[in-house]
Amino acid sequence: MNTIAVIGAGTMGNGIAHVFAQKGFKVNLIDIAPASLDKGIATIGKNLDRMIAKEIIAEQDKQNTLGNITGFTDLVKGVANTGLVVEAATENLDIKLGIFKKLDEVCDDETILATNTSSISITQIAAVTNRPEKVIGMHFMNPVPIMRLVEIIRGYSTSDEVTQTIMELSKQLGKTPTEVNDYPGFVANRILMPMINEAIETLYNGVAGVQEIDTVMKLGMAHPMGPLQLADFIGLDVCLSILNVMYNGFKNPKYAPCPLLVNMVMAGKLGIKSGEGFYDYSESRKADKVSSQFQ
Ligand code: NAD
Repeated sequence: MNTIAVIGAGTMGNGIAHVFAQKGFKVNLIDIAPASLDKGIATIGKNLDRMIAKEIIAEQDKQNTLGNITGFTDLVKGVANTGLVVEAATENLDIKLGIFKKLDEVCDDETILATNTSSISITQIAAVTNRPEKVIGMHFMNPVPIMRLVEIIRGYSTSDEVTQTIMELSKQLGKTPTEVNDYPGFVANRILMPMINEAIETLYNGVAGVQEIDTVMKLGMAHPMGPLQLADFIGLDVCLSILNVMYNGFKNPKYAPCPLLVNMVMAGKLGIKSGEGFYDYSESRKADKVSSQFQ
């Protein structure tokens, strides 16, 4: 498997392309939006520069890594002759089902189709293809070049062979793959998102401010980041969409998204990517200034 394709050059897609390319794979990075593709490749360059500054890699490694990445805006051209496609497009069911239908039509019969979805059912995605045994969840964590976990999600029909191949491949990337089954939120988000939602609910109920809630969790529970800062980092739209998948999937009110989260997403306050979430990122990208509405 020398050439792989990554669909979506956003937060996750550019990180996934980065780690594969750094390990010597040829990566076709595909995004429907030319500006997102350019931004994604520029982000990989900046992240590699940071690694050079920290003496983790040499300048030549940066050149080799970037040399392994080719950008595409045309999905059909981008996935041609690839052994694996990792889909990391926007977390939206219709978008993902559309992409997988198309991938099934145009990819070689042997190509494994993986998705980085945070919460959408792998089984449901696999069902729109004629190769459900070759569809699998490959859930990288953000930021991909740094985080070691890959949650490997077996859909109802995913074969043992495909699971084994993806587990081995994840190890080749220097990651620790962990196999889980396909139920809403899988394991990572089933545990993380209710905590983030509860932190937002705590803010919404006026129990404490943004900084106080994050400080309690950072210093009291030894979390490297508070839950509200983490929500900004993940993207509030992504958090909302994951909670809705769990709420609808389990029909259990404990997953109901907090109305404040819903309002913030409707207002376009999506966290770091929009410049404002629970914190203000407009002047610096550091979460050191609380948004005025929560002061
Ligand atoms: P993002 O919004 O940063 O990037 C999504 C990209 O997909 C955009 O550049 C968009 O132009 C592109 N896109 C949309 N439709 C497309 C299509 N049809 N073909 C090609 N490209 C298309 O989103 P993200 O945060 O990188 O999330 C991507 C996936 O990774 C989602 O499924 C999300 O749930 C998952 N995920 C996100 C995180 C996180 O922390 N953000 C963590 C783990 C998994």
